[in-house]
Amino acid sequence: MNYSTLTELYEQITSTSKRLLKTKYLSDFIKKSPIEDLDILIRMVRGKVFADYEEEKLGISSKIILKVISLSTGMTAKEVEDEWKKTGDLGIVAENLVKTKKQVTLFSNDLTVNKVYDNIRRLPNIDGHGSVDTKIKIISELLTSAKPAEAKYIVRTVLEEMRVGIGDGLVRDAFLWTWFGNELNINFNEEKNVIDFTDEERLAYNKYSDNIQRAFDITNDFSKVGQLCVKGIEAVENVNLEIGNPIKVMLCPKVADVNEAFEKLGSPIQVEYKYDGFRVQIHKSKKGVVIFTRSLENVTIQFPEVKEYVEKNISGYEFIIDCEAVGFDEKTQKYMPFQHISQRIKRKHGIEELSKKLPVELNVFDLLYYEGESLIKKPLNKRVEKLESIITPIPKKIVLARKLITNDANEAQKFYNQALDDGEEGVIIKKVDSEYKPGKRVGGWVKLKPVMEALDVVITGAEWGEGKRSEWMTSFAIAIVDEFGEFLEIGKVGTGIKELEGQSDDVVTFDKLTELLKPLIIEENGKEVMVRPHIVIEVNYEEIQKSTTYSSGYALRFPRLIRLREDRNADGASTAEMVEEFYYGQK
Ligand code: ATP
Repeated sequence: MNYSTLTELYEQITSTSKRLLKTKYLSDFIKKSPIEDLDILIRMVRGKVFADYEEEKLGISSKIILKVISLSTGMTAKEVEDEWKKTGDLGIVAENLVKTKKQVTLFSNDLTVNKVYDNIRRLPNIDGHGSVDTKIKIISELLTSAKPAEAKYIVRTVLEEMRVGIGDGLVRDAFLWTWFGNELNINFNEEKNVIDFTDEERLAYNKYSDNIQRAFDITNDFSKVGQLCVKGIEAVENVNLEIGNPIKVMLCPKVADVNEAFEKLGSPIQVEYKYDGFRVQIHKSKKGVVIFTRSLENVTIQFPEVKEYVEKNISGYEFIIDCEAVGFDEKTQKYMPFQHISQRIKRKHGIEELSKKLPVELNVFDLLYYEGESLIKKPLNKRVEKLESIITPIPKKIVLARKLITNDANEAQKFYNQALDDGEEGVIIKKVDSEYKPGKRVGGWVKLKPVMEALDVVITGAEWGEGKRSEWMTSFAIAIVDEFGEFLEIGKVGTGIKELEGQSDDVVTFDKLTELLKPLIIEENGKEVMVRPHIVIEVNYEEIQKSTTYSSGYALRFPRLIRLREDRNADGASTAEMVEEFYYGQK
């Protein structure tokens, strides 16, 4: 496909705020796309050349892009910078300057989506001497052949700052319109901006939509889901897990007490310790053991000891387990809060050494696949029964999550208290016969914990400090994410961050945050900067209030940074839906 076709779609989608119209544009685009190319095309549509489960990160700075624009348009660095100051958007700078240049040369090759995709994907793998120059060359090659609007979107894709706003919900609905439009009688009335549905038709629409979402959550592959859609909704419903391909993990909403858990889940319930570690999904197949985080990042190399426990202590050739890995101090044997262990997730060097100093214990709680068979539609008690029969637990290496099955509220309450006494965060309570629902927050699991729910928010802007703090950014604009992938601001945070340098790895200082955010700056205005939404932090607060100041419609009262969430990308931030739920929950 020519890149210009994709560029037209970007322009169409940004031209309207109407969600149904955006869906129509995207669906028309999908109809034109070969299904086998859909995975790449949809990634490009969303401005993400790497899937979540791929390890590569682009990390191209604004500085590099300034050089690229200068090189490929023949403008001086100063001219490009001036234009940047004027417009505040490097995508627009590229568009404007390419326009000026093209008037002179009037020459361009047709760029294809694949060419843009391939060039951008090469970037993270270039390192060593001269790597910056090579990267500049690879991006410039694209810009030299680009038409003005194409240049804008190439720059934005490279900077991972699309500003187009295409989230999961939109892609899912566009798939639905493309393949089930007739079957579901989707008649979009563009003028009135509505679909005229009967109640029954709406129900069917929602059911199909859930099925497609589930297929995305299980395969994480748009081409595969497209191929299933062509076969019909039954094929989508029966989508298969594939060993080696990570699936989105099941999540849970919060309940206020044990009784609410019984109300929601029926009786008996399965109450499990809620360990304070990080989620890992582990696949074992002929190809070996692969470990994925909750954001589906492959961290196998970082956790050699976990790989070994899984190989030695679980019998079977092929399986997928769901677990929480909890770190402890080798010397004191004491469990450590997640912050201390998070450094292991990003570690590239000295991995063996760190795994000895800060080893993890694997708490296994679910089995999703075993010897060629997907178990996610089987009831939880059957899955756990199987899990218990194949695992040989060894404390401080690999264990089963502690659990109690009961229909007695007092027993459940005692178990919860015990979990807190043992230093755990609380309990996860599960419906004994529930299916495993990938990516779902509502579906048979709930959590019970004593503290006000913290939020994972994305930093979208910052302010430089004053006086002796002028070298640092000291106040940070924070945002949550909505169903369509848009970031909605919910406040500013400046507390919970330390001033002192030389702190240990897991302490967040102003200096550290500033260093993380500097390469992400997309716009500066006096003391204020806008940054690409990449860095996720966890914040506590006293209360959620309604607010007209921030785009989310809510504001956090006294937000305070608890930690960096390096295990989470911006899409995985707390959602608008959660904030609404917490807002009403606190009353
Ligand atoms: P968020 O609040 O954004 O969903 P979080 O990491 O703070 O994320 P919670 O929602 O509070 O987590 O709790 C759910 C998490 O608890 C799971 O994602 C998992 O990592 C962890 N967990 C610990 N023990 C268990 C268990 N026995 N069963 C399921 N999940 C568990």
